[in-house]
Amino acid sequence: MTTHLEPKLPDAGLAGSYINGTWHWPQGRLVVENPSRRVPICEVGRGTSTEVDLAVAAARAALPAWRALAASERGKLLTELGRRLVENAEEVARVLAAESGNAIKTQSRGEAMGAAGVLKYYGGVAVEQKGETLPLGPGLFSYSTREPHGVVGSIIPWNSPLQLGAVKISMALATGNCLVLKPAEDAPLAILKLAELADGLVPPGVFNVVTGLGEEAGAALAAHPGVDKVSFTGSSEVGKLIGKATADRIAKLTLELGGKSPTIVFPDAITDGRLDGTAQQVANAMRFARQGQSCTAGSRLFVHKDIWDVLMPKVAEKSAALKVGDALDPDVDMGAVVNAERYGEIRAYVAEAEAQGATFLIGETPNEDPDGFCPNPTILTGIGNNWRIAREEVFGPVMVAIPFETEEEVIAMANDTHYGLAAFLFTRDISRVTRLTRAIDAGWIQVNQGGGQIPGMSYGGTKQSGMGSEYSIEGALESYTYRKCVTINIEDGT
Ligand code: NAD
Repeated sequence: MTTHLEPKLPDAGLAGSYINGTWHWPQGRLVVENPSRRVPICEVGRGTSTEVDLAVAAARAALPAWRALAASERGKLLTELGRRLVENAEEVARVLAAESGNAIKTQSRGEAMGAAGVLKYYGGVAVEQKGETLPLGPGLFSYSTREPHGVVGSIIPWNSPLQLGAVKISMALATGNCLVLKPAEDAPLAILKLAELADGLVPPGVFNVVTGLGEEAGAALAAHPGVDKVSFTGSSEVGKLIGKATADRIAKLTLELGGKSPTIVFPDAITDGRLDGTAQQVANAMRFARQGQSCTAGSRLFVHKDIWDVLMPKVAEKSAALKVGDALDPDVDMGAVVNAERYGEIRAYVAEAEAQGATFLIGETPNEDPDGFCPNPTILTGIGNNWRIAREEVFGPVMVAIPFETEEEVIAMANDTHYGLAAFLFTRDISRVTRLTRAIDAGWIQVNQGGGQIPGMSYGGTKQSGMGSEYSIEGALESYTYRKCVTINIEDGT
């Protein structure tokens, strides 16, 4: 069943769905391809509502014992899973690079270790699932507890599947829920490797993986009456469908959706020897090394006109320095976009902007039929903030750069979007920092850096970028548990 295997991948027995602690092959098959080389890697099961039914039933059956387990014991199992992932990190990273196109050097190794860190972090804080006592008056003893919702259905995208999978697994399981996880059809293999590592560690049914298409397995999971909470990460378009699917039964819901995040640079960000560092952080914020395939990518760059001529060549130099190519090549910094469809859409956005008269500071309209889906980092100028390429999520290595003159003007341009996920602000003026961070609509604003999420921080979007935030302990508790209040009359009671 398997061809072109360079990294060690799940064998035939392990590439189906993982349900109730066993490997299960659905009738249909999906081929997972390596987008850097355009060759098939492996087949996985094309799960449907049949597999979703089985997995939800297994999760429901496992729930009473799992939620009754001490949180510290659940935490220990997550910590152990994190340890096993560290032990197998290189192998998992190679699988991840092969299926997602994310370069092993800059991304996939870091993602494997980051996912292990998430599992260990939530393993450690699982005991923080605490309640409150309430002073309701003499004779009354009132307290609250945090209860799991029950069965969680999580649906994740392909762009950082292991990290996102680890977040969903950790938060759901730490808080006493059981989980059915539906990975993306383009990148399910690293998640199956994680299931392999979890096999025999967590009780059967606590953690299940159903591979399959979004419209089949994903839709069946979102609509399943036995799923009490859905945690979805993906596009805003699909997020709206998930919202509709969960509305009738008032299932709990978290949506982590798309973005078109602004990066804003003021002149004082490049004074006193800061030009080089700021240019590098601006390029980092764009996530070029992830082919721009990050929900938080700072893909709209607003640069004050007084520093345009100095900063832009430096940002171009830093971005163009990335070596582009096969994600498994140990020297490559930037790999491939995930599939032909995504590549074609990126190509269409850039071709349209070129036809509208945009100028390429670096990059070009990608080739029509490449050997691997590896477009170069591209920065476009001469763009209007109302152009399609400046408004829609390209989800590729394409940044648009627009000059501005005043704070008011840049705030208006930054907020002129239906997204509100992230923003990056570069200035040394603390008053300006407080004014702009207040004014900009975004769930996460970084000042003077373009880094990634860190476990424990609150993370989520506003506007059409999402609903709820899950990354922090508080976010996990709010999203994966409900408060139960108990009031006891400790006097007579009658
Ligand atoms: P997508 O919405 O197409 O797919 C995401 C997941 O949803 C996949 O598992 C897919 O199979 C499933 N799906 C598709 N149609 C479905 C349906 N009708 N019902 C149920 N499930 C369905 O997104 P994508 O292209 O895989 O990922 C890219 C998107 O994800 C971008 O918009 C990106 O910004 C977003 N994203 C957001 C975050 C965040 O934290 N906010 C993180 C990563 C990615």
